[in-house]
Amino acid sequence: MLTLVLALTTGALAGGATERLPEAPGLLDRWDADRSWGTPLIVDTLLHATRRMAWENPHLDPVTVGDLSVRGGGPMFGHSTHDEGIDADLGLFVRGGRQPDGFTDVTADDLDAEATWKLIATLLDTENVQFILLDQGHIDRIRGWLASTGYPQEAIDAVFVPTGTRLTWDRRGVVRHAPNHRSHLHVRVTPPPPAVPLN
Ligand SMILES: [Zn+2]
Repeated sequence: MLTLVLALTTGALAGGATERLPEAPGLLDRWDADRSWGTPLIVDTLLHATRRMAWENPHLDPVTVGDLSVRGGGPMFGHSTHDEGIDADLGLFVRGGRQPDGFTDVTADDLDAEATWKLIATLLDTENVQFILLDQGHIDRIRGWLASTGYPQEAIDAVFVPTGTRLTWDRRGVVRHAPNHRSHLHVRVTPPPPAVPLN
């Protein structure tokens, strides 16, 4: 019963890792076709977000897309998640709006904070993002850059939740620190909860 409940609340509801992210030249660079399976929702979300990135920021490199899941899901070597087709690893932008060749660690100094923020904002705008994981050094760099542009601190804190803040289970669309996320960001894509009808 517990398994069923968990399955219903995560990937299974959105259809499992049944769809392969297609090649999309100019929008994204897919890393490994065999590790590019996800739910229809994550595939749509990545295509939509990268299409909008390319349209609005033609000077930026296409986004490198690393691991999603293997076909049908299940454990994936090197990951504790990526087993349900709801997770994807995306490349970070470095100075000049470039995506490094492969996922190598990026220093906070080298991070293109503006371009990486645009990617994060575009993903969040889909409303399909449950959370994004990123190194704290990168988070601090983007927070600082946003503050320098006059972005309201309250809005910055709403996305890049200050460390130590307790999050309720239903909080979505936040960027949080995770170790080993200096080379990429990890995005989890799940359907937004149904709107509560107004009586
Ligand atoms: Zn990941």
